[in-house]
Amino acid sequence: VSRNPSEDEFHQAVKEIFDSLVPVLAKHPEYMEEGILERMVEPERLITFRVPWVDDNNKIQVNRGFRVQFNSALGPYKGGLRFHPSVNASIIKFLGFEQILKNALTGQPIGGGKGGSDFDPKGKSDREIMRFTQSFMTELYKYIGPDADVPAGDIGVGAREIGYMFGQYKRIRGGNEAGVLTGKGIGYGGSLARTEATGYGCVYFVDEMLKDNDLSFEGSKVVVSGSGNVSIYAMRKAKELGATVVACSDSNGYIYDEKGLDIDTVQRLKEVERKRIKDYVNEHPDAVYVEGCRDIWTVPCDIALPCATQNEIDEESAALLVKNGVKAIGEGANMPSTLQAIEIFQKNGVLFAPAKAANAGGVAVSALEMAQNSMRMSWSFEEVDAKLNDIMKNIYASCVQAADEYGYHGNLVVGANAAGFRKVADAMIAQGIV
Ligand code: NDP
Repeated sequence: VSRNPSEDEFHQAVKEIFDSLVPVLAKHPEYMEEGILERMVEPERLITFRVPWVDDNNKIQVNRGFRVQFNSALGPYKGGLRFHPSVNASIIKFLGFEQILKNALTGQPIGGGKGGSDFDPKGKSDREIMRFTQSFMTELYKYIGPDADVPAGDIGVGAREIGYMFGQYKRIRGGNEAGVLTGKGIGYGGSLARTEATGYGCVYFVDEMLKDNDLSFEGSKVVVSGSGNVSIYAMRKAKELGATVVACSDSNGYIYDEKGLDIDTVQRLKEVERKRIKDYVNEHPDAVYVEGCRDIWTVPCDIALPCATQNEIDEESAALLVKNGVKAIGEGANMPSTLQAIEIFQKNGVLFAPAKAANAGGVAVSALEMAQNSMRMSWSFEEVDAKLNDIMKNIYASCVQAADEYGYHGNLVVGANAAGFRKVADAMIAQGIV
């Protein structure tokens, strides 16, 4: 804590992981002897940089850019870029640290990284987004590459932003290194099903967990927070599996309709028209809009899929979800539940799918995009979706198996951390003290 002052989110992520590794370390003292924890918690490097740009009023703006290259034991650094005013070193480090184990769980050869900026894309014109992303890439390009570090999207970074950054990277570097970024448009090296991957993958994972416990999406009531990339496709897949999605949100408030939301409308409003979720009720007067996004957890449901942001479910919201009869939680967002909230779910027998396992589908398909770029091939939607489904099933199975191995049957937090950690730790030992 004294080495990383004021980095609350980073401390929280490290505590969650290290606490659950106690049984692993007891069985494998070599990890302590080799200083794995001390080495793993220190990023290989953290890059911060100035991002100057000129807005539409000809005024100079300055933002801060970040890239953390956390751990390359398994392969090139891989992890998204987040553009949101709350971004700081703590947020980037918590995301990067989680990413190490998440990427290990996918079984693909990718290390952990993350990046972003405190730039706020909301309300900016297309040209402003372009000027900002070009300036951002003009510094970032020095540190990334298809075999070194491969960024993707995250909050505030979608296909538009990736497209502008890819254009600028090529302009500076020359050539056409398609594998330098993932989440690209389909017409220029992107993978089919990447857009859907995190949301679909989260539902595939939760579906496995439900089936294992004689439950199912069919006929269940689902609440999904957020209305961005992860949220939209989690809603779509949950509905496809027979659930009724009764509520979703944005950072201002939430919408509720007990008969089920029209996801096409949500997608058009948020992705195409870039409007607010409250505009939904203009087209669907039966639905209710409530100001304040945190109150979405007051809506009774069988399954809750937090897909917006970190720490969106605190102790109080968790207790309320339990009181209202929630049976399962699937974390689509990164670290959406506080440590106290997780404790409440586990104590009350709520099935809990932790983020680093449940939302690994996005990065897994990103790695498939890298593979397609290297082979100069593209697979069909069905092919990628089938691979995603297999990967999520395998992740679920390895979490269950690792939890059992260490005496924590059914505890997927321990299972995910133990399974991911062991892969990275073994690779670090094999590669010496570096
Ligand atoms: P988007 O930017 O597409 O959507 C984010 C959604 O969450 C929006 O509805 C946004 O509302 C809401 N939101 C953002 N910040 C806050 C906040 N501070 N409080 C309340 N609501 C907020 O991002 P993604 O869907 O890509 O990402 C969502 C989560 O999933 C993040 O935790 C991300 O790290 C994680 N994730 C994403 C992956 C991906 O492939 N995209 C992969 C793995 C994890 P508003 O529009 O009002 O800002």
